[in-house]
Amino acid sequence: MFDWWRRLSRGEAIAAAFPAQFRELILRRVPCALLLTADELAKLEALVRIFSSEKTFEGAGGFALTEEMRVVIAARACLLVLHRVELDSPLYPDLDTVLVYPSSYRVRGQRRDGYVTIEGDEVRLGESWSRGLVVLSWDAVVSGSANPNDGHDVVLHEFAHQLDAEDGAMDGTPELDSLERYSVWSHVAGKEYAALLDDLERHRKTFIDAYGATNAPEFFAVVVELFFEKPLTLERRHAELYAELSRFFRFDPAERLRDAGTGSPR
Ligand SMILES: [Zn+2]
Repeated sequence: MFDWWRRLSRGEAIAAAFPAQFRELILRRVPCALLLTADELAKLEALVRIFSSEKTFEGAGGFALTEEMRVVIAARACLLVLHRVELDSPLYPDLDTVLVYPSSYRVRGQRRDGYVTIEGDEVRLGESWSRGLVVLSWDAVVSGSANPNDGHDVVLHEFAHQLDAEDGAMDGTPELDSLERYSVWSHVAGKEYAALLDDLERHRKTFIDAYGATNAPEFFAVVVELFFEKPLTLERRHAELYAELSRFFRFDPAERLRDAGTGSPR
């Protein structure tokens, strides 16, 4: 089915049918999917079709990707931009290819520079290149999506790096609407990052994963995972940071959870 989508124009991709089992997969495996309105869910499905028709999915080393695998990855990537893009606007314009390894993989002698961020040291779970490539390990995708509310998701993480890089620099600050927003972002994220470093130095338990202390881009990617997977707790414990992320994503999952009246602690 995805091969068929690949040859569709935007209009055709938007109009194409979306199989019921893919919708179920999204509702079960994608964080916040149950909080979306019917219109938002329909838009997410259209974005998934567009993503699938415009981006190349490749299995590394002969790994055979199924349609379900592509849907799980595409839906998470598209959730991040659901309220930021329209169906006729560019969708991850710098991204060409999603390369998927069957499991965590080893790469030796890989240089690091400003264009790439690599998760882990020798054994990698995923990586995001600002020039057209996201690399994922399928077992990390599975463990991240097994529980959509555990605060960890390698797909959200790697695509957060893509968003971060869209303004030309993978620096932990995504493209914002105004100079004022950059100023507030810089103040809030800077303060939270410093607090995380301080807590770790003092061996205090932190809600934000220690991996976020690696550098500013990792901090951004880690808090994006929390924003979608543990929005209530992020809002309660890091209110200003939550508010800035909510402005950026144009989405307030914590408010939706409260409105939905779910008492489950997240
Ligand atoms: Zn990262």
